Amino acid sequence: MAGSNKDKKRRLFRLFSENLEWVKEHPSISFKPDFSNGYICPLCFDVFFEKDIETSNENYLTLEDIPPKSLGGKPLALTCKSCNSKSGHELDSHLLNRLLEIDSHQFSPNSKTDTTFELNGNRVNGIVEVDNKGKVKLDLQTSRSNPKEADRFLKDLIPPRTIYNPLFYPDKLFDEGIKTPSFNLKFKRVSQERRAEIALLRIAYLLAYATFGNGFYINGGLYKVREQILNPEKDILPKVYWIKYDFPREMEGINIITIPKELRCFLVIFNLETKSQKRQFAIVLPGPSEPGIKVYDFIENELCTGDGTTFINGMTEHIPSNDYLKNKDYAFASNWFWQEYTKPDYKPNLQKSKK
Ligand SMILES: [Zn+2]
Repeated sequence: MAGSNKDKKRRLFRLFSENLEWVKEHPSISFKPDFSNGYICPLCFDVFFEKDIETSNENYLTLEDIPPKSLGGKPLALTCKSCNSKSGHELDSHLLNRLLEIDSHQFSPNSKTDTTFELNGNRVNGIVEVDNKGKVKLDLQTSRSNPKEADRFLKDLIPPRTIYNPLFYPDKLFDEGIKTPSFNLKFKRVSQERRAEIALLRIAYLLAYATFGNGFYINGGLYKVREQILNPEKDILPKVYWIKYDFPREMEGINIITIPKELRCFLVIFNLETKSQKRQFAIVLPGPSEPGIKVYDFIENELCTGDGTTFINGMTEHIPSNDYLKNKDYAFASNWFWQEYTKPDYKPNLQKSKK
C-alpha cells in the first residue's frame, strides 16, 4: 500500500513539475531564487523536490484528495504535509461533520447521530439512526445519561400500565396500552459552519489547480483566497462565495460566468457525497482581471437573499474537460479561456446556454 502511494506521488510530482517548467518559460514569470524540476505547494507556495515525496523529511509532499476522501474524492494533486494536515483538522472535518449533521436533521437514509432526547425536562442521551430504507431507530442510552432523569424520562415515555385480561375487559386493552409520547430531539452540533465553508473554497481552488496546473494560480485575485484558506480563523473574504442554484450535470467542473460583468469569475461545480446524499456545490473563484476579488462583494451585496445566493439571468461558459496539465500548449489554458470569454466583442454561446 505504502509503495503504491509513493508511486502515485511520484507520478503526480512529475506531472505538475513538468507543467511548472512550461509555465516558467513565460517571459514575464520568474522565480527568485530560480530552481528547476521542482513542485510548488499550491497553498503555501513553498518549493519541493522529488526527494520530498519521502515521508522522512520534516515537511514533505502528501497526496491531496480533492474533495476529501471521506466525501468521495480522489488524490489529484500534492500539497505539503503542513498544509494538508492543518486543513484536515481545521477545515475538512468541519465540512464532513456539517454534512453529516444535515443528513441527520433530515433523517436521511444511512445517517446516524448523537442526540439528546428530552421529555418533560428530563434528558437522556442516545443515538438516532436511519437505515438504508429510511427506517428510524431511536437508541436511548440510559447508561450514559443522568440515572434519575433517565428513570423519569422512561416513566413518562412508557406510562406504567395495568394489564387487563382481554377476556374480561376486551375494550380496555388498547385504551391503556400504547400511547404515542412526544419528546424533543436535540442534535449535537460539533461542526463550525464558517470552517465548513472555507473547506468548500479550498476544494474549489485545488480542483481548479488540479485541472489547469501551475498556470492557474498566476492570478492576483487568488492571493486572498489562499490567505483565507490558510487562516480559517480570520475573516478575510466575505461570507458568501457560492452560487445557490441547481446546475445541470454537464456543468460540473470548471465554468466561467461571463454575464453579468460584475459577476465574472471561475465557477467550480463539484459534488460531495456522504453515505446518505450527494450534494452539488458551486463555488466562485476570482478571475485574473476585473472584477477580480470584488466579485465576492457583488455576490454578498447584490445576490444574497436570506440564506444564500440565487443565480438570476447569468450566462456561463463551461470549460470542456481536457488534459490541460499534460500539454505544453495549454500551460496557460485558464488565462486563455478567461480572455476569450471576457473580451469586449464576446458573444455568449447562446446555442449552448439555451436549456
Ligand atoms: Zn504547503
